[in-house]
Amino acid sequence: MQESTLICQQCGRVYPDSISLWRCQCGGLFDLNFIPKFDWVKIKQRPHNLWRYREALPIRNDQHIVSFSEGFTELLQLQLANRKIWVKQEHLFQTGSYKDRGASVLISHAHEIGIQHVVEDSSGNAGCAIAAYAARAGIRCDIYVPAETSPAKLAQIRSYGACLHLIPGSREDTATAVLNAAQDNYYASHSWNPYFFQGTKTIAYEIWEQLGGKSPDIVILPVGNGTLLLGAFIGFQDLMNAGLIDTFPKLIGVQAQACSPLVDRLHGHLQTTGLVRNQHTIAEGIAISLPIRGHEILNAVQATRGDLIRVSEHEIITAIRTVHRMGFYIEPTSATVIAAINKLENIDQEQSIVTVFSGHGLKSTEKILSLYPEE
Ligand SMILES: *Cc1c(COP(=O)(O)O)cnc(C)c1O
Ligand SMILES: [Zn+2]
Repeated sequence: MQESTLICQQCGRVYPDSISLWRCQCGGLFDLNFIPKFDWVKIKQRPHNLWRYREALPIRNDQHIVSFSEGFTELLQLQLANRKIWVKQEHLFQTGSYKDRGASVLISHAHEIGIQHVVEDSSGNAGCAIAAYAARAGIRCDIYVPAETSPAKLAQIRSYGACLHLIPGSREDTATAVLNAAQDNYYASHSWNPYFFQGTKTIAYEIWEQLGGKSPDIVILPVGNGTLLLGAFIGFQDLMNAGLIDTFPKLIGVQAQACSPLVDRLHGHLQTTGLVRNQHTIAEGIAISLPIRGHEILNAVQATRGDLIRVSEHEIITAIRTVHRMGFYIEPTSATVIAAINKLENIDQEQSIVTVFSGHGLKSTEKILSLYPEE
């Protein structure tokens, strides 16, 4: 496997990939410079999980792979908002969300460079995924979450043996707490660490393969820190660079109106009175008021001539009820994309649309219960 390097976005400094830093010494974000390869003869012969794209994943030695045989989630065609939509079943991973894609590659890398202790912060699902993969690798793990995180996610994180830290206050207070811990420990961050995106990018490869070697016209994804949207962007870029696609899907990101900093940056603030950033939203998984890769998300959306859309609490709740009635048990954050489909304009029926169910409903029992009070 060829060399890969870490490059600082801010000062351009280059580091070998074996370094245990998660950001540049100047404080800048890392990009990973790695050229993926696709060997389709081999890929087709391998099991249906994300490690079938072995030559496109930046892990040197198979022995270091930390995996639950994750990926290749079903792509189901559903009738939603009077049209046919492809929905990738990303709630059906080992830990109940697509975060397992990123955790598998990131923890494999940590394992490969000899890391024995990781720290991570999360609004819930990334913490669950990192804790599970750390358990599988035998790596010690500390997870920082906002004190108000759904109890099911807290139970899940603790169950894997991770040390759980409940931080009072906002999601940003949690981020500050973990940054202190990350001064002496490897930060297995789903937003800072570029290896996480090397895992989430596989969603693009799978969509391409499942659509018969074609790229869809539009991909609609929930956006907080953009781990799925940026992963998809990297993945489709890889396919483009490898000459496997010649058109790029439009990437459409969806934010909850109560916390939509990226929609604000693209389209300006809402005119309604009294709207403050990071009000409470039922979509807890994407309530990120300061996404550190915000400029990259805006760039990905604009480069693909996509868009960023906001959906209201009422629209999210209407959408989740619809999806639940169809027999799919998803968490509230996952319903944002379905709410967005109702708002799409100027898209003709021939255009193929792919979206995801990003997280499992069992993670948010009390929030879902509040939607269905006893009669
Ligand atoms: C993490 C997550 C998202 C997307 O969040 P990002 O912050 O953009 O990575 C969406 N849905 C669920 C259920 C999630 O756990
Ligand atoms: Zn730097």
